[in-house]
Amino acid sequence: MNHKASLELRSPLFEDIVEREGEVGVFKTFVAGSWVLTDSLAVVKSPIDGSIIAKVSRLDAGAIEKGVDVVYRLGRRRIRDIPGEKRLNILSRIADLLEKNAGDFEEVLIVNAGKTRKQAAGEVEASIDRLRKAALDLRKLQGEYVPGDWDRHTLESEGIVRREPYGVVLAIIPFNYPLFDTVNKFVYSTIPGNAFIVKPPSADPLPVIMFARLAIEAGFPPESLMVATLKGSEAERLVADRRISVISLTGSSETGVKVMQSAGIKQLIMELGGGDPAIVLADADLKSAASKIATGITSYAGQRCDAIKLVLVEEPVYSEMKKLLVEELSKVKVGDPRSESTTMGPLIDKEAVDAMVEAIEEAVSKGAKLLYGGERIGDTYITPALVEVEDKSILKELKLYKDEVFAPVALITSFSTLDEAVELANGRRYGLDAAIFGESMARIRKLIRFLEVGAIYINEYPRHGIGYYPFGGRKDSGIGREGIGYSIEYVTALKTIVYNYRGRGIWEYL
Ligand code: NAP
Repeated sequence: MNHKASLELRSPLFEDIVEREGEVGVFKTFVAGSWVLTDSLAVVKSPIDGSIIAKVSRLDAGAIEKGVDVVYRLGRRRIRDIPGEKRLNILSRIADLLEKNAGDFEEVLIVNAGKTRKQAAGEVEASIDRLRKAALDLRKLQGEYVPGDWDRHTLESEGIVRREPYGVVLAIIPFNYPLFDTVNKFVYSTIPGNAFIVKPPSADPLPVIMFARLAIEAGFPPESLMVATLKGSEAERLVADRRISVISLTGSSETGVKVMQSAGIKQLIMELGGGDPAIVLADADLKSAASKIATGITSYAGQRCDAIKLVLVEEPVYSEMKKLLVEELSKVKVGDPRSESTTMGPLIDKEAVDAMVEAIEEAVSKGAKLLYGGERIGDTYITPALVEVEDKSILKELKLYKDEVFAPVALITSFSTLDEAVELANGRRYGLDAAIFGESMARIRKLIRFLEVGAIYINEYPRHGIGYYPFGGRKDSGIGREGIGYSIEYVTALKTIVYNYRGRGIWEYL
């Protein structure tokens, strides 16, 4: 397949938010009640072949200020004044609209994010599912009753601790799950009644803008929503804005540090960099482990926070595991994601492939061995790679170990004791997830106890899915949890109300 990448949306829903400029559509953005077309346009390219597929209206500082003002003054109240049941109905209508327009969303994820059709369909389906599971978040919106009679100073009073929305949540979205991540943050922010400002990723902002169109169509209060199309490097003022109470960022650890420095005192959810270790024990089903680890390395070209980046194999099965893993990696079909036979598409841009090539070269120059792959095929395509480290004294020096190289590449090495495996896994600065393959429960339990991560997958590669099981990191991987029900804690404030019956006396009848 080699025809030029271009974007064609079929649904009439998107007609009024896209103006035509020759072959390329110019997207408006949504600012607290109106769709706006600006003079400053950002070019959006396809990772498939670098073609320009759209332009997007970018907001300047003045437009952002006006938008935040409306969201804060009006939007914050509008969403909160809608009864919970009706908010839930709006989310359900968005799910229906997403299902109806799934084809357009799949198309945009293929052309703008470079996903294969299966991956694009998976992201759309996960987004619909997340919207439909919003009712499960409600269960965490409940508060507590605190009796006063256990303290002599509060004998005549009692307290209620309730959760209420903070006001305005700013969601900052990464390029790898532009639709799902927007939907997930939107659901847990708005279900308790927060207004929502979303900053889309510059590489693939289109799914975010299209989602806003559905939300408005479904009856979401327009003043309570804004799509802040601006560059991350210019977002400092927005991040620092005191009218925003919560920031939910999914992005790299480096961006996390910058956002924390600018944010000031705010509630934060930081879903940051990762790249996970997979530990293979001697009693593991090696064939199954190899197949799952290969998927963990290559799914969406390794551009996942929960991608496997370090494979640690117990010595007796090391050679066999290495062989099986190379066999599995060699089955991956790299190519144009529009082709049905492709299982791994392009990386998001040329720089991502450059970074992978450079990291492999650095590892080899320090004594590691390229066991498989790493073959560049054009600007944005590369075969998945496995890099072996025999001399463990160099492991911690390698960029592939120290940093998150956001590409389909993993290191492989052996270990002789569980303590060594734990030490090598915990030695990275990240602590998002880990995978363990094996049978002995006693040994698995020891690993579970000592791994410094947010989630552990046994006999499975790490995959966060829709957050039915909560996920989130430790160390440089972040703060807080994303997961159905679990994120409510971060977007709501506790308020304690104390009722004093002194005088009338709740204990008087005794
Ligand atoms: P990124 O470069 O950190 O960008 C993420 C978002 O932050 C983008 O919208 C970006 O805007 C914005 N941004 C950049 N600098 C900013 C700043 N100074 N202030 C405010 N916003 C700023 O990450 P990415 O390459 O898009 O995504 C991949 C990263 O996300 C990986 O590290 C991956 O592990 C992580 N991730 C983590 C999870 C998790 O659950 N822990 C899930 C998915 C992804 P621009 O696009 O305009 O630069």
